[in-house]
Amino acid sequence: MNRKKGIIVVGVFYLILFISAFNGIGVWQNGEWDLTSFLRFFAASITLTYIVYFMEYSHELSEIQLQITRKKEAESMKALHEVSIKDALTQLHNRRYLHQVFDKEFQTAKRHQYYFCFYILDLDYFKQYNDTYGHQKGDDVLCALADALRLYMRRSEDLIFRMGGEEFCGISVSDDKSKIQAQLKVLVHAIESLQIEHNSSEVSRVITVSLGAKIINNYDEYSFERLYKEAYEALYQAKNKGRNQICFS
Ligand code: GH3
Ligand code: MG
Ligand code: MG
Repeated sequence: MNRKKGIIVVGVFYLILFISAFNGIGVWQNGEWDLTSFLRFFAASITLTYIVYFMEYSHELSEIQLQITRKKEAESMKALHEVSIKDALTQLHNRRYLHQVFDKEFQTAKRHQYYFCFYILDLDYFKQYNDTYGHQKGDDVLCALADALRLYMRRSEDLIFRMGGEEFCGISVSDDKSKIQAQLKVLVHAIESLQIEHNSSEVSRVITVSLGAKIINNYDEYSFERLYKEAYEALYQAKNKGRNQICFS
């Protein structure tokens, strides 16, 4: 029953009580009850009922208020969590999120006996790019790179992150090692094909990246730290070999 109906029902109930009781007043006047006693009793009980009813009503109101506050709190917590795991510039997930999800991804891939690839990708001669075109243009390049990663690494098994600065990394899982290798090659080529002018690069006239990757299926021998280290070594191998290329550790 809603509040409005409740008030009406209680009102009608007391009206009926009042009429029936008033009709019996003549009888009561000869006994212990007179009209004043009846009215006092009637007024007291109706007041009490309404007090109880409005206490219930205000309790209900504060419950609703509490629910609204809790909902707002949950929403702000969610927004705060989103901010804490996302990179503000590119809106990619950040290093913190990588640490949060790595174990779960690693264990899932291990269970399915898939190949697990961890790769690190770094812009070539990006300091020179900033020096030549300015920091704002540099930020635009980082966003373009993030878009390329989203576009070319978009299978549900692909996760991408901005590690910081001009370094990005990713996890790719597949039952076919060569598929991951081909996908990464396409990515590196696609970034060059964006044809973003970079006249001060020593490797090309456009923005390029170097990528180091480690693909494993011998899970028991690997931890995050070892995978990261070997992917990083592969990245520096790619840099030393002349940049704009991939090296698989
Ligand atoms: P290498 O080919 O060896 O990777 O050389 P590099 O110049 O790319 O690498 P280095 O580590 O010398 O410089 C990285 C540069 O990335 C320096 C810094 O100005 C730039 N950078 C880092 N974070 C940001 C950012 O958020 N925005 C912009 N615009 N530049 C950034
Ligand atoms: Mg670089
Ligand atoms: Mg770097």
